[in-house]
Amino acid sequence: MVYLDNNATTPIDPAAAEKMSDFIKEHFGNPSSLYPIGRQVKEMVTEAREIVAKALGAGRTEIIFTGSGTEADNFAIRGVLDAHPEKNEFITSVIEHPAVMETAHYLEKKGVKVTYVPVDKYGTVDLQFLKEAITPQTALISIMHANNEIGTIQPIEEITRIAKEKDVLVHTDAVQSFGKIDVNVDKLELDLLSISGHKIYGPKGVGALYIRKGTHIWPLIYGGHQEREMRAGTENTAGIIGLGEAVRAIRERGDKDKKRIEKLAEKLKKGIEDKIPKVKFNGHERNRIKGTLNFAFFGLEAEAILLALATKGIYVSTGSACSEGAEEASHVLAAIGLKPEVARSCIRFSLGRFNSEEDVELVLKELPDIVAKFREISALDIEEED
Ligand code: PLP
Repeated sequence: MVYLDNNATTPIDPAAAEKMSDFIKEHFGNPSSLYPIGRQVKEMVTEAREIVAKALGAGRTEIIFTGSGTEADNFAIRGVLDAHPEKNEFITSVIEHPAVMETAHYLEKKGVKVTYVPVDKYGTVDLQFLKEAITPQTALISIMHANNEIGTIQPIEEITRIAKEKDVLVHTDAVQSFGKIDVNVDKLELDLLSISGHKIYGPKGVGALYIRKGTHIWPLIYGGHQEREMRAGTENTAGIIGLGEAVRAIRERGDKDKKRIEKLAEKLKKGIEDKIPKVKFNGHERNRIKGTLNFAFFGLEAEAILLALATKGIYVSTGSACSEGAEEASHVLAAIGLKPEVARSCIRFSLGRFNSEEDVELVLKELPDIVAKFREISALDIEEED
């Protein structure tokens, strides 16, 4: 199997899997219980919290574990808007993940004014537009750090600088950047930041929200006293411990993976551009998560390419969101200016720690033939776009 869909999810780090499996077998205590088997679990959860906090340049009490990256995004946005009833405006971008986008739509239904900042053809937000969109009623700005479909990295430092001048809180969805590039909440001057376990070789069903000390926010989930009364519900202890271990592994590995993934992705990018005519690279050439490659294959349906690659054991993703069989062109690709038929021809290759030279070579061997065959069958007049 050649797995090139690491932005969808990643294989679990072996040390994280082992730690989780040992933990589940040996520890069933509730971390809220005061007797030893509970205290012991609480200590392990605290250790995981410390690892995550350190990796983000945060303090331990600023990390709240959640049930997913999606929950962390919902918590940040709804929690800040709930805590600031006197302000009813929210700013986000047109290329957010549904975890943020659908939360914005929910806010709109509740009467909040939402402004969507546009992006240029590389997927970078329009800072001037953002500046002009801020009003005294703006409660929060939420703009993702790196995009999941095209990898473009947003100028978060500039966004927070603009926001600070007007005293507005900033959240970023760092689900696709954390573990791949440097993510430090102080350097980026962020108030809130979301991460997810399963994008960083950790388990699924666990995430975390960084909340800068002193930030006024309400919980999303009410109940018991867990997570400093900010996220009720008995903790997903095994998930949290697995997430901690995955983060520890990332920190220990340092730049090793980053450099290797970059090299492999560059080889794949160059290979596709050299061997396949009528393709277009989507995203920013430099300000990008380098392991994410999104290409349009003019004249083709991405889904057909995806399925043909899958028969060869190569797993990639399309640039389109499929909902109940009805294929819609991706809002991200539309936002960078692609026509629907071009957006429907886009394939995302996302590389990760476990990919090898052989993986890239196999794609470069199979993909040109697949594309050529489909083009021959469809015999369409393929128009290239700028
Ligand atoms: N935000 C981004 C940018 C993502 O790519 C994803 C997952 O695809 C999420 C949020 C949601 O994370 P989770 O799957 O943990 O809910």
